[in-house]
Formats: sequence, structure tokens, C-alpha cells
Amino acid sequence: MSEEILLECKNLKKYFNTPRGTLHAVDDVSFKLEKGKTLGVVGESGCGKSTLGRTILKALDPTGGKIIFEGKDITDMKKREFTKYRKDMQLIFQDPFASLDPKMSVYQIIEEPLKIFKVFKTKKETEDRVIELMKTVGLDERYVNTYPHELDGGRRQRIGIARALALNPKFIICDEPVSALDVSIQAQVLNLMMDLKDKRGLTYIFITHDLSVVKHISDDILVLYLGKMVEKTDSDTLFAKPLHPYTKALLSAVPIPDISYKGKEAEVVKGEVTSPIDPPEGCRFAARCPRATEKCFAKTPDFYEAEPNHFVACHLYE
Ligand code: SF4
Repeated sequence: MSEEILLECKNLKKYFNTPRGTLHAVDDVSFKLEKGKTLGVVGESGCGKSTLGRTILKALDPTGGKIIFEGKDITDMKKREFTKYRKDMQLIFQDPFASLDPKMSVYQIIEEPLKIFKVFKTKKETEDRVIELMKTVGLDERYVNTYPHELDGGRRQRIGIARALALNPKFIICDEPVSALDVSIQAQVLNLMMDLKDKRGLTYIFITHDLSVVKHISDDILVLYLGKMVEKTDSDTLFAKPLHPYTKALLSAVPIPDISYKGKEAEVVKGEVTSPIDPPEGCRFAARCPRATEKCFAKTPDFYEAEPNHFVACHLYE
């Protein structure tokens, strides 16, 4: 039986005009995301991963490429038509404190999307739904009239998750959802998210700089470097046998006790990060790559299948 693709990005680009030139934040990103799966999107700060998420959700207009959701091209869809898709596509933010309106109570925050989309006719139905959502994310009903500043980071993130679930979405982009939380609370929130995914058949894009987080939650992992895809494969393979020198450097830099990749051949990353503004031809990692050759500075590597279901953009594997 063929897989059911929920989301497809084809050569997606998001550039920004700046006084110094054109910033290539997302540059030619393509992938297919199967329903019920999680794609981890990994890279350092500034690699374009959050811009990619916001572009997919049409909070930013793409510069080029296509976004296909449930077989429908939503790239240039007008706001009115997109509304029905917007319900199915939600976002969980990194910093729940910054993303939750401090003047709104827990009830008001979770209720808001239900009100905007006029989901229920009666107040009672809305109240029941808010309480049900609080229970779903493990938030005690007694917090219903509290405000975000009265709660700890874990509970605040649970509010963000409840709000994201309010409209019964099919797809959620989780943008560094546990980065602002203590490690002990990170595990609780991640377990909750995985549980919700299984129970509700959700599909996630999980954006993070933290590889130790992404391994356990992702089916596939896409590594970005300065807006470009540099490696993509399933999570186990990426950790056991990374190909791209940048992925190897990322893995060797993160203390992960249980990964099979030991970091013995750790690639040391030196040098300046290339500017994403009007980037020259060549591999964007070349200035930092210990394996770089003349060709790397002269020709941009293609993103191709070096091994079955293992894609990489690096001249070493051509
Ligand atoms: Fe390094 Fe060259 Fe591969 Fe780029 S293409 S990652 S510079 S070896």
C-alpha cells in the first residue's frame, strides 16, 4: 500500500531583502512527510529551520517553490480559502512564556481559537472543550483561572499544546518546544507530545537545535545548514552513520549517552560561518569543513541519494 503524504515541500525558498543583499534563509528545501510521522528539522541557530516552519504555515510568503498539503497546493492560496487548512495546521512555540498573552487566563488562552473559528454555539460547549483539552495535556482543572506567570515552564508549555490541539489539527509544527524547559520537564513534555501523536494520529515537524531531543521523537531527520538541506535519512541511520561532515560535527558536539555513533571520527568545525546573504557558488559549509577541497568552493553539491533512503549534499559521496 502506498504511503499517504500529508505535506510536501517542493524546492521551497524564502529570501529576505536586506540592506546588504538578499538573505537566503530557506533555499531549495524539498521533502515529503507521511501522515502520522515526525520529521525532525535540525541545525544551528540561523540555519533557517524556524523560517521554514513559518513559511509552511504561510505566516511568511515563500519566495519560490510549492507547499502541498493533503494533495492541495496551498502556496498561493488566499487567506479565506486557506482558513480551512489553517485549522489543520498548528504551531507550538519555543518559549511558552513569550507566546502566551500574560493578560489572558488559561481558560481564555485555550478558548481563543475556538472563539475565532466559532467552533461551538454555546458557552457550555466551549467550557467543556477547554476542560477536556486541559485534561488531555495533563493540566489540572484548578489552573483554569490562573495566568501564565503563575505557572511553571512545563505547565505553560502544556497550555500551548492544549491551545494547538483545540481545533483538532492534523499537523503541528513544534518549534523548539522544549528548549526553554528544565531537562526533567523536557522529558515529560516530550512524552506527552509523543502520546498525543499516537492517540490522535498527528503528524509533526519537530524543529530543534538539540539532537538528543530529536532522536527519540523523529522518524526522519533533515539537517539544514544556512538554509540548505545537507542530509536527510531515518533517525536511526542518521545517528548510527552520519555522512555529511556538518552532521558529524553536530553529533560529536552533543553529549548523548545512548547513541551508537561514538563520535570517534568527530569532525572539528573551525572557521567563520559563511554569510547567508548572496551566498557564492560552492558548498556553504566549505569554510568550516575539514574535508573541503577546491571543488567544494567552486561547485554547490547536489542533494542526492548516496545510499538507499539516505540523502546528502556533499562532494565526498559523489
Ligand atoms: Fe565539506 Fe566539500 Fe562536503 Fe561541503 S562538499 S561538506 S566542503 S567535503
